[in-house]
Amino acid sequence: MNSSAPDFEVGIIGGGPAGSSMAAYLAKAGVNCVVFERELMPRPHVGESLVPSSTRVFKDLDFLPKMEEAKFPHKFGAAWTAASNAKVYNMDFGGVSADCHVDIRFEERNQPGVSQNYTYHVDRSKFDLMLLQHANQFGAKVYEGVNVSGVDFTDPNCASIKYKMGKKEMSTSCRIVVDASGRKTLVGNQLKWRIQDDHFDQYAIHTWFNGYDRRCMASNKQTQGDFIFIHFLPITNTWVWQIPITDQITSIGVVTQKKNFAKGKESREKFFWECIKSRPELYEGLKAQGSEQMHPFKDEGDYSYAMKQLAGDRVVLVGDAGRFVDPIFSTGVSIALNCSRFAHKDILGALETGNFSRESFQTYESTLKRGTKNWYNFITVYYRLNVLFTAFVQDPRYRLDVLKLLQGDVYDDAEPPVLTRMRNIVQQVERDPNHALHGFLGDLTADAFVEAASV
Ligand SMILES: Cc1cc2nc3c(=O)[nH]c(=O)nc-3n(C[C@H](O)[C@H](O)[C@H](O)COP(=O)(O)OP(=O)(O)OC[C@H]3O[C@@H](n4cnc5c(N)ncnc54)[C@H](O)[C@@H]3O)c2cc1C
Repeated sequence: MNSSAPDFEVGIIGGGPAGSSMAAYLAKAGVNCVVFERELMPRPHVGESLVPSSTRVFKDLDFLPKMEEAKFPHKFGAAWTAASNAKVYNMDFGGVSADCHVDIRFEERNQPGVSQNYTYHVDRSKFDLMLLQHANQFGAKVYEGVNVSGVDFTDPNCASIKYKMGKKEMSTSCRIVVDASGRKTLVGNQLKWRIQDDHFDQYAIHTWFNGYDRRCMASNKQTQGDFIFIHFLPITNTWVWQIPITDQITSIGVVTQKKNFAKGKESREKFFWECIKSRPELYEGLKAQGSEQMHPFKDEGDYSYAMKQLAGDRVVLVGDAGRFVDPIFSTGVSIALNCSRFAHKDILGALETGNFSRESFQTYESTLKRGTKNWYNFITVYYRLNVLFTAFVQDPRYRLDVLKLLQGDVYDDAEPPVLTRMRNIVQQVERDPNHALHGFLGDLTADAFVEAASV
């Protein structure tokens, strides 16, 4: 190894949305970069519904025409349904009371820098491959089937990415390492930066169905066919996602708390169907109307965590490798893409100045921490007092501010005023056992807010 001339300027571990968008940004700017992906693409992946803030990245990377050519379903909005439509909320919101069904359309709020009123649902095997190939077309080197085992940071002049080719130990040197290894959090684990989130110990079980009529629970069957639906179940903190993949195929997943999640494989499937049965229209649509389950069930567990830091000397963490927040608002891919949108600028700056210390990546680190903290607090409010979310979405004074968050625009404010308002109400309700909403409080405690603020 020649320390004065590393093999690459930037070495990226992982070829998911975070890694490939980072490679595309850097290669487009003329940076000599490489991606190591341990799988052979295409490979399946959970996380199929995007939010509109991803569009800015697609635009930057000239990727929108490819999204359209691929004919991914257009996502115009989102709907939340609950087991009961009874009016449950009656507090001082200008006389508004909320029921449990709400929906939003993205076109209701103009989003700076986003010119289309929809985003996409994607088959991740196809989408991830397309984005990786796109990075490759800009000039990024891509090596698939290469499992990185660690990074050596001991040489002061470069970092060294370690992997095996057959039985041979190999390494590649670079000035900066980008960890985009997803929930494997390769560098975060190696450097002991990872902190498990004990509040959101959620589990998910999911698969695809062919032939399910996904309008069966829509309040407007004409316009909501390709919405994402979140169906709430009468089990605490448990919900179902319904995501269009093609005209015929729908992804269905049950998300619940660890303590509810059955252990054995057979009982997990039983658990899935028991959950679905608690919403009879959904069960009817999936079972009785003859839709076909396309793959075995897959589960994902215990996935929420943060990192003590998102950058260090010669290293930047992006996407799930940096933080994972509960997927209730379909945030993950958008966060991954926006990590690259922000971080590549700091990386270009560091390459120009030759300063590869953590401080060079500070703008990225603070922007991302702000955004993910806002997501986290929003999600915490949502789980803690679900009816509040419903009421705020229905109240014209707050609707567009909530929509801004749901569109993925979370990075500008230290804390958006609507979130502060929601958090204050949660605290009032918690303090007052006679409050009309006290009985609607979920398991999460206000301490979660304090801890959320500290990571
Ligand atoms: C239950 C659940 C539901 C979700 N729903 C949504 C949703 O609706 N919408 C949404 O936007 N997000 C959703 N997400 C989140 C989404 O899946 C992730 O946020 C997103 O995939 C992050 O992209 P990434 O590139 O950071 O990581 P990944 O997509 O996981 O990519 C990381 C890549 O790194 C590779 N890799 C790992 N280790 C190594 C190694 N040692 N060497 C080389 N390569 C390596 C992996 O093979 C992988 O290809 C959901 C997540 C869960 C768990």
